[in-house]
Amino acid sequence: MNILVTGGAGYIGSVCVEELLNAGHQVTVFDNLTEGHRSAVDARAKFVQGCLSDVAAVKKTVDNAKAEAILHFAANALVGESMTNPAKYFRNNVASGLNLVDAAVACGVKKFVFSSTCATYGPPDQVPMTEDLPQRPINPYGESKLMFEKILLWYRQIHGLEFVAFRYFNAAGASGKFGEHHRIETHLIPNVLKVALGQVAQCEIYGTDYPTPDGTCIRDYIPIRDLAQAHILGLAPGKTGFYNLGNGDGYSVRQVIETCEQITGKRIPAVEKPRRPGDPPRLVAAANKAIRELGWQPQFPKLDDIVATAWAWHKQHPNGYSN
Ligand code: UDP
Repeated sequence: MNILVTGGAGYIGSVCVEELLNAGHQVTVFDNLTEGHRSAVDARAKFVQGCLSDVAAVKKTVDNAKAEAILHFAANALVGESMTNPAKYFRNNVASGLNLVDAAVACGVKKFVFSSTCATYGPPDQVPMTEDLPQRPINPYGESKLMFEKILLWYRQIHGLEFVAFRYFNAAGASGKFGEHHRIETHLIPNVLKVALGQVAQCEIYGTDYPTPDGTCIRDYIPIRDLAQAHILGLAPGKTGFYNLGNGDGYSVRQVIETCEQITGKRIPAVEKPRRPGDPPRLVAAANKAIRELGWQPQFPKLDDIVATAWAWHKQHPNGYSN
């Protein structure tokens, strides 16, 4: 298929582009490079630098790519930042995203695949979390993604735009080529590995008084390559709806740090800090729906394996995509 990927220079987008190309698709990447990196775009893809807020550029890119499907990764995705700058999240994730779905409808795109998030649920009444749980986000990031999910429901009903929305839990790890590099790093695993690389003296634990066994937040870390495979399966005609993508296993912040110590063989000192606003205590997926309906088969579910791929990439790229 001819596929347009927004945010294909970002962490999750870059690995999905690689896997799409490996599967034989033709890929055009559209990215404004505010968060992404030009060198994270697979050399086999066509690259267009542009902004989703630019209606004409978006329409032209969808047209030129002869896109049969759009994978929409481009977004701001930091819980903490969304608690201080909500406008950025509603403007970029909702208002600018609307330009893309409008172009998809105008150009007759057959399938729209959207990066949503477990942050749309807010603190769940139960874990593992199924797709039918109530969605009550507690930060503007989750709210912005939920708003876009609702837009997709209406566009499917009114315009017939078929969509698959994946609610990611915590994407982690790396492919052989591409890994996680944010200019301002807020994510747990890369921050912990910076200590192992000797770039910082210690990592930070945000909150040790949560109602969890060791007091730190629990997350479900899903390997980036498995995440990418789900997107390829979601492209099949007739597949539509919302799917959780996670492992079904929850690990606390302390467990992640311990695993990083084991994999890297380095001691990783951690300091305890207050809670980060907007963080739910425990988010763990039930991903049975994706397994059942899409035929998704996660290949690399163990945290050790995930951290090992991340560590291999960070050792090879100690400054990420920066020279
Ligand atoms: N976290 C932490 N120290 C860090 C980064 C993150 O304790 O340096 C915690 C964070 O509060 C959350 C978990 O680790 O409970 C995962 O955070 P991350 O930012 O990686 O992903 P999120 O769950 O926010 O998408």
